[in-house]
Amino acid sequence: MKQVIGIDIGGTKINSAVIDEEGNVIDKYRIQSNAEDGRDEVLKRIRISIDRLMTSEIEGIGIGTAGFIDSEKGIVKFAGNIEGWTGLRLKEELEKNISIPVYVDNDANIAALCEKWLGAAKGYSSFVMLTMGTGLGGAIYDHKMGFWQGANFQGAELGHMILYPEGRLCTCTQHGCAEKYIAGSALSINYQELTGKEETGPEIIAKIEKDQAAKDSVKRIAHDLGLYLASIKNIFDPEGVVIGGGFIETKEHWWDEAIVQYKKICNRPEGMEITAAKFQNDAGVIGAGKLAFEKLGYK
Ligand SMILES: [Zn+2]
Repeated sequence: MKQVIGIDIGGTKINSAVIDEEGNVIDKYRIQSNAEDGRDEVLKRIRISIDRLMTSEIEGIGIGTAGFIDSEKGIVKFAGNIEGWTGLRLKEELEKNISIPVYVDNDANIAALCEKWLGAAKGYSSFVMLTMGTGLGGAIYDHKMGFWQGANFQGAELGHMILYPEGRLCTCTQHGCAEKYIAGSALSINYQELTGKEETGPEIIAKIEKDQAAKDSVKRIAHDLGLYLASIKNIFDPEGVVIGGGFIETKEHWWDEAIVQYKKICNRPEGMEITAAKFQNDAGVIGAGKLAFEKLGYK
């Protein structure tokens, strides 16, 4: 069976795996990314990962990385998570040392590609993927156009859609971005606004049953997600919305309430399915593998 390597480059770790045509993970390798040491160090670690997994069966390599990515040329137009990553011709840089092609895309598109291939978005002709991690990532897919890139590779930055004008200051310089309200980090901000205390997301979730402020902080995320989904419906009207990312692990505390809020707030809520992502930890490597298979011409 045909095989490729899928690589998921994160700010803390580089996850790699050999993926076959059916999406099975054949072999895996994980290494710290050491992003703070800059681009050459991260590149070295990507090469180590490739060496560990390379066999004569491997036909191509797919990579997911955060930021604005020119996926045609494999260039990182902008990235804030790795020192020196902005401007990097990642495809070209890696192809210097190996004889098989390398393909690159944005990490949110990669996660969506995994869900479309084998997960919750399977069968949708159009869908929006939201990844609720520390921040909020987005991907927009339609079967006729593929993934929305934007004229400057800055499209589908759904976490920076303004939810509250003049609201919380975002790292992107705007005020009131959705990711300041609907993501793991928003939980701590909600709690601090209510109590003045600094607590981590897991600490707040742990005391949700006995602390009213913790409960209200989570409830606010559910409300804001419902509000946000109403705009997603009105702008894109997708067949489905798939929600993934690390924060989805806490969904028992907010999912139902978010759907209730969405139905209450939205003018026409029907016709858009909202589902949780099926893949969590392996979404990056499987999606990156799928990218390689598609670019190689195996649909
Ligand atoms: Zn922002």
